[in-house]
Amino acid sequence: MDIMEEPQVAMEDIHYRVIYVNRSVSEDRCIQRSARHLDEYVAKTEPNCIADTVKCILEIFPEAYLCSTEGACMSHWLQPQEDHEADLQPTIILLDTPYQQFFPAQFPNERRDESHDGNSYGLSLLKKIESEARARHLYEQVIPVPLIQSPDAMNNISGADRTRMRQQCIDFGAKAVLSGPLNAKSIAVIQDRAYYAYKDALSRKQALADVRKGRKRSLIAVFNDTRPYGYLREYLVESLIKKICSTEDDRDNEIYKANISVCPEKRAEISRAISTWHFDAHKFDYDELIVAAELTLNHALSMPELKAFRISPTQLQNFLKACRAAYMGFVPYHNFRHVVDVLQATFQQLLRIGALPPYPNVNGTHTSPIAESPGTPSIGPEEAFTLLLTAIGHDVLHPGVNNGFLIEARAPLAELYNDRSVLENFHSTSYCQILKRHWPIFYENRRLRTLMISCILATDMALHFDYMAKLGNLQKLQAQKPDLDGWNEKAVDEARVLVCALIIKCADISNVARRHDIGAQWMHLLNDELILQTQIEMDMGQKTALIAPPSTSLDGRIRSQLKFMELFAFPLFRGVADILPGLQFSVDEMELNLTHFENELLLPSAGSTMENQPGISKYSPPPKCDSEPPTEKSALDGRPNGVLPSLTTTDFSRGGAGLHGSNRQRCSEATEGSSAPCSGEWGSQANSATTGKMPLSPSTQGTSIISRDSMDKSVGVPMTTVTAPDSPTAIPEATKMSSDRDQLQVNEKLDHFISDDEDNMSNGNGHMNGSGSTLGQEYLKPEQDTGNGKTMRKKASLMGLKNKFSSKFSSFTKSKKGKTSCPASPERSADPMG
Ligand SMILES: [Zn+2]
Repeated sequence: MDIMEEPQVAMEDIHYRVIYVNRSVSEDRCIQRSARHLDEYVAKTEPNCIADTVKCILEIFPEAYLCSTEGACMSHWLQPQEDHEADLQPTIILLDTPYQQFFPAQFPNERRDESHDGNSYGLSLLKKIESEARARHLYEQVIPVPLIQSPDAMNNISGADRTRMRQQCIDFGAKAVLSGPLNAKSIAVIQDRAYYAYKDALSRKQALADVRKGRKRSLIAVFNDTRPYGYLREYLVESLIKKICSTEDDRDNEIYKANISVCPEKRAEISRAISTWHFDAHKFDYDELIVAAELTLNHALSMPELKAFRISPTQLQNFLKACRAAYMGFVPYHNFRHVVDVLQATFQQLLRIGALPPYPNVNGTHTSPIAESPGTPSIGPEEAFTLLLTAIGHDVLHPGVNNGFLIEARAPLAELYNDRSVLENFHSTSYCQILKRHWPIFYENRRLRTLMISCILATDMALHFDYMAKLGNLQKLQAQKPDLDGWNEKAVDEARVLVCALIIKCADISNVARRHDIGAQWMHLLNDELILQTQIEMDMGQKTALIAPPSTSLDGRIRSQLKFMELFAFPLFRGVADILPGLQFSVDEMELNLTHFENELLLPSAGSTMENQPGISKYSPPPKCDSEPPTEKSALDGRPNGVLPSLTTTDFSRGGAGLHGSNRQRCSEATEGSSAPCSGEWGSQANSATTGKMPLSPSTQGTSIISRDSMDKSVGVPMTTVTAPDSPTAIPEATKMSSDRDQLQVNEKLDHFISDDEDNMSNGNGHMNGSGSTLGQEYLKPEQDTGNGKTMRKKASLMGLKNKFSSKFSSFTKSKKGKTSCPASPERSADPMG
């Protein structure tokens, strides 16, 4: 039914959800007004103050959920709603908030900064709710209200202090602040707030309905109600074009209002975490990840050579908020957490090669850098800074599907970029819009912007073997002549661009070179994203763009991961460590990972399905503050090293070409001829490596090598022009409607881009010398042959993702249950921050 035709809903008939968090609650449960023994039940089981509050709530709302912990609160809030109007439903969260939390100096035992251990309460829970709500785009629909209890003590608090307390609550995301016992008057105020939220959500939905009706026509296409997942098709292009071409300043400041509040102790912990290769991004929430990025960029900007690029702390934070807002919270892998992880990996690599000044580690010391080989152009401060900026923006607006999907769908985005490096072009063009607004001094530097774009385009795994060939050429050249003497400036510059691209490529797939437990979490998240894509493809009736279905067993996932390491990661990392010896540590770590994975394959549980793997997926609650990141030394101690018992590193590349020129492939000799532990999903693709079609692992698929389509196309020649599509898009007719919420989310994200009158389209396409360069052509002849609370938090996160997709997937699974062999349920997917 058209939304305009819906009758006006009476204020009291709107289905509000009410959650009341008080740590004195005896049992987490729903209490309904209609319960026959309400008075008796609540009065007998709960303290008077809770019973009175509940009764007051139930005078206006028909039911309330009582709970005592953060986990229970988040889980109930984020659980999926069957109601198709769920995205309009306001959620009121009443939070018992001890007044002592406002006066930490007087009451040091009443902590308010325990948000890191999954045990937030009062103010810290309020802050967490705000952060989650913004990250999940639920901010408008949630009404967090601190209930500051303790009337006696409150009487002694001055008016100025009361004002400060209210302000602090509001700064932490409260939509209203109540003190003293709840009464009918105050609960009515809360109902008013919730009703406003409902009306706002209704008008947003109306706006979307307008778009879907085609009232707002895009340059490329219009929404069509019979074709779901519009955000994967028209909307990405429509909004990008609008932003690039618009001359209006339609800045939406909503994203800048989020208060990044991280206590000094946590900042210190984050600082320690980024100082080591064993950085675990899963440990940190989105605010904390912003701090991690802030510390990283500030460290680089401390170099005097970068003085001209410095911006104010507020500007830097706004830039990072804009970046965060430009990632889709519902995408399991390619989200803000992934790019901060890539940023930190890049940071570590640059430290290890001495391109950044030393950064103190846990012990207050630092690892001594190892300079690049004499024949490798050095990475200067500007290049190092550019690489860090590249990392944080390299997947901007990633929709959670790969290039192959977009090409198969004949999405306008694929048409815009002529089916070539579709997402990578899109990321770079979109990211330029963010930089144009937030870091104009960088954006206006044509050389560095061009370098950044080249590096983003290099992350297209379909171009992987082109880069491997160039790396092989550079290695070969160094073997013949170990220094840069005699190179002309252009050749050196091009080699430098290549080295930068290789660093980003390593960082982008660095999951496999991280500590094993950390890398394994990334592996599962990536698999989750592939499962989502599979679901969407089935939902749209579209041929899959994945060569192999996502693994449903731990065994399958590990085998895919091993194959990815063999074919892609080891050759790349070894080759890069050859020209940048400071990066040998990552090869060593990957070898340890290899051993771990192989050992896991020997466990009896490896072959079971993911549904039988407790705790396998994804949402890992942040550990307690006192769990220091292990030092690299301790992590390496006792592990075998330098052995690749079952993988070969030769003949890995497309068309059977191998990587030559590296003298550091220590493992190849030892393993020649041994059998790789790859069967299962990989077995079905046994021929692909010799037929020019690379088999795909979760990692490769997730980073967009994947598609059958892209495998069929020639690679290595990035587009250099933008051609407007000259034919209408044609998407297979699908069976149901798209998700309004997802579309709104994408809409919101795209709306954050600055608009001005400079046509930037060529920026994303006109300077792609990374792949099409003539690296050292005077010297190089390209060779063809180179080459508990925890459980609740987890559930809450799971529910969050499910919520995002519930309208799509619930009807999908219902309608197709028993008719398909979908490998795994999307409910398995979850990202810590959704
Ligand atoms: Zn990436």
